Amino acid sequence: MIDEYLSKCADNNNYTIYTSFCKARRIMLNSYSPVCSISGGADSDIVLDIMHKVDEDGRIKYFWIDTGLEYSATKEHLDYLEQKYGISIERVKPDKPIPTCVKEYGVPFLSKFVSEQMMRLQKHGFQWEDEPLEVLLQKYPNCKVALQWWCCERYSDKDGFQKISRFSIERNRWLKEFIMANPPDFPISNKCCEYAKKIPAKRMVKDNDADLDITGIRKAEGGIRSAVYKTCFSECKSKGCDTYRPVFWYTDKDKHDYEQMFDVTHSRCYTEYGLRRTGCVGCPFSKHINEELAVIEEHEPNLYKAAVHIFGKSYEYTAKYRAFVKEMKAKDKEEKKRDKLSANGADTGGDPVSADRSTVPA
Ligand code: SF4
Repeated sequence: MIDEYLSKCADNNNYTIYTSFCKARRIMLNSYSPVCSISGGADSDIVLDIMHKVDEDGRIKYFWIDTGLEYSATKEHLDYLEQKYGISIERVKPDKPIPTCVKEYGVPFLSKFVSEQMMRLQKHGFQWEDEPLEVLLQKYPNCKVALQWWCCERYSDKDGFQKISRFSIERNRWLKEFIMANPPDFPISNKCCEYAKKIPAKRMVKDNDADLDITGIRKAEGGIRSAVYKTCFSECKSKGCDTYRPVFWYTDKDKHDYEQMFDVTHSRCYTEYGLRRTGCVGCPFSKHINEELAVIEEHEPNLYKAAVHIFGKSYEYTAKYRAFVKEMKAKDKEEKKRDKLSANGADTGGDPVSADRSTVPA
């Protein structure tokens, strides 16, 4: 059967998909108790299709974690997947659902990494002050990593050039200036990712004594989630469970090719609502949160109300930050324009007016 899939890949000239089948088959030959996490999203649909095709004796245990804020279209899609492949997908309860986490720890803001650092700083009563790292380390001695993020720590590359760390606050333009001008008056946290996703997934690995954990991370999706991995497979000697990401190298085009070649149907979140990504409803980390909220309001009005109730403070703060960035960009542009004019003026003896006149034809 696998030969048929491989020929299809060769006929369609897609060797990323071809290689992923070969690799998936090889990895499955060495696994006795694999588990595969299903999210109901587009990448996960492809992962399931690949793994089901290479799992000839049905060893993979599939599971889905109910974070407590899920689209009904996703839940329906799970039923569809079970029927299509003749498998069962275990519905796993989170250690704490998202609404409880937000209530207990705080609301996610901007990205997982930013939320983590802001949460750490808030925990130490940080006053969002603009001081050098050495000063802040004395004042707040137990949160070095978060302070390094805040102070835009740089590092020297192998040639001795100073570079901004991938984990510096400067990666989010004007975020530091924004926070200093508008300190958050509510707790920020990324704990929902931990209690509603990460810990239950780890529990599934442990409870099933799994030796292989299969997930749908793609390098092209960007962000911290994909940045921590260098390849599609990570061997873990200590806890005995390797991790495998079958679509790690897939580009958007490969995804599209796969859908066409193997007739993959995604959930109504994509086909009917028109969402570009799924996952937790209204997660504030989404770059297109306003468009998403409009879609959620139209198609799942009760979930919309829940998302606004849970994440409202983060939505407001994010909107304020985006407006701040826009304003700063405009100011920056204006300043550059002025600098350019005065530089032209300096070239002609310091008089910008004469500089302008010199370009006017007589
Ligand atoms: S993806 Fe967003 S909403 Fe979902 S658990 Fe993580 S931070 Fe919370």
